[in-house]
Amino acid sequence: MNVNDTEVIFSILERAGYSRTEKMEEADLVIANTCSIRDNAEQRIWGRIEVFHQLRASRPGLIVGIVGCMAERLKDKLLDTHKVDLVVGPDAYRSLPRLLEAVRPDAPQIDVLLSRDETYADITPVRTDRNGISAFISIMRGCNNVCSYCVVPYTRGAERSRDAHSIVREACDVYQKGYKEVTLLGQNVDSYLWKSEIETVTFANLLERVAAIAPDLRVRFATSHPKDISDEVIYTMAAHPNICKHIHLPVQSGSSRMLALMRRKYDREWYLERVAKIREVMPDCGLTTDVIAGFCTETEQDHADTVSLMDQVGFDWAFMFAYSDRPGTLANRTMQDDVPANVKNRRLSEIIDLQNRKSLERYRAQIGKELEVLVEGPSKRDPGMLCGRASNNMMCVFPAAGRSKGSYTTVKVVDCTSATLICE
Ligand code: SAH
Ligand code: SF4
Repeated sequence: MNVNDTEVIFSILERAGYSRTEKMEEADLVIANTCSIRDNAEQRIWGRIEVFHQLRASRPGLIVGIVGCMAERLKDKLLDTHKVDLVVGPDAYRSLPRLLEAVRPDAPQIDVLLSRDETYADITPVRTDRNGISAFISIMRGCNNVCSYCVVPYTRGAERSRDAHSIVREACDVYQKGYKEVTLLGQNVDSYLWKSEIETVTFANLLERVAAIAPDLRVRFATSHPKDISDEVIYTMAAHPNICKHIHLPVQSGSSRMLALMRRKYDREWYLERVAKIREVMPDCGLTTDVIAGFCTETEQDHADTVSLMDQVGFDWAFMFAYSDRPGTLANRTMQDDVPANVKNRRLSEIIDLQNRKSLERYRAQIGKELEVLVEGPSKRDPGMLCGRASNNMMCVFPAAGRSKGSYTTVKVVDCTSATLICE
C-alpha cells in the first residue's frame, strides 16, 4: 500500500516539474513515506531522519519531508524535535507542490488533514517497480474497522472506495503498457462498495470487471477480512481462470477470547468455516495469514489455540508479529500490554517454527504438479534460472530455456524449500 502511495506521490511531483533521481546525494528533496503499524517501523525512520540531516549538512538547502502515517501521528515531534521541513499525511499528497513552494529554512510546512473522499482516483501512479510485469492498484483508502490493536483508522482515516471506472481504466492502461498482473489493494477489500446514480459495484463485481479486461491479465487482491469475505467473492474467483487462486486472510489469533478483545468481529469457528468454504470451492487455493503473538491478557491457552489453528489450517505462509502497543488505539487506552517481552518473543518463535514446518509441508505437497507461472525475470539466487509465481502465489524457479519475461509457461515441480518451488 505504501509502495502505491509513493507512486501517487511521484506522479503528483512529476506533474509539478520534479524528476526522480536514483542517487540520494543528488537530490534537492528527500521524502520518506512512513508506516506506523508497529513501533519498530517508526524506530527505523527516526534513524533515517538522522541520515537525511547529515546529508543536509553537506548539501545546504536540501528539503527533508516525512509523509504517510508517521506524519499523521507524530507531526509535532517531527517538526519540533526532528526539524524536518515538510510533514504531509496520507490524504494530503495533492498539496505537496504548494507546500514545497512555501518551504523555507525557518518555515516548515504541514498538511495532515484527513479526508472523507480523497482516493487519488484521477492520478496515474508512476510505477516504481522494476519488472514491468506486476502493478499495484489502490481500490480504497482508510479503514472503518476498529481492531483494538491497530493504528490504521487513526492514521489513514475513514474507509472510502474509489470510482470503479477509474480502477478499470487504470488496469486497462497498465495492461496496454505490457503489465500482466494487477493487485487490487485495500485494508479490507471485501467491503469495497462504490455507488453512482446508476449503479452499485461490490468487490465481486469489481473483480469481474477487472478480470474481463483480458484473459492474460492476472488479477490478485489484498487484504481480505475474514468477517467480510463473501461466498460471492469466492465463487467469482473460482469462475475466472485469470483471478489468481490465493487469499491473504489475516487470522491474528486462534483464540475466540482474543479475537473478541481484538474486536475482529469473528471467532475461531467462523474463521475455520470460511477456510473450509474456500477449500471446498477452490481446493488448490493458496492461503496466507497474519498472526499477532502476545496481545493483551493472552494466556498460554490462548497461544495454544493459535498454534492449533495454524496447525489445522496449514497456511502456505504467514506474517507473524509480536504485539506492539500503539498510542491512541483502543487497546492502548483501555487494556494493559501485560504479556512480558520474553513471553511474547517465545510465543512468536514457537509460531514461526510451526509455520516454517507447515510451509515446507505445503510446498512439498506441490511436488509432481504442473503449474502455470507468469515469468517475472531472473531468479535472485541463481541468475541462470528464471522465477515467477504460480496462481496460488508460490514462487517458482525454473530453467530459462528461451522463455521471456511477461510470458506464461507451464512448469513441473520437482523439489522445494519452505518458500520456493524448484521446477523443470
Ligand atoms: N487490514 C489488514 C491488516 C493491516 S495491518 C487486516 O485487517 O487484516 C497488517 C498486519 O499488521 C495486521 O494484519 C496485523 O497482523 C499486524 N498488526 C497491526 N497492528 C499491530 C500491532 N499493534 N502489533 C503487532 N502487529 C500488528
Ligand atoms: Fe487495522 Fe483492523 Fe482496519 Fe485491518 S481491518 S487496517 S487490522 S483496523
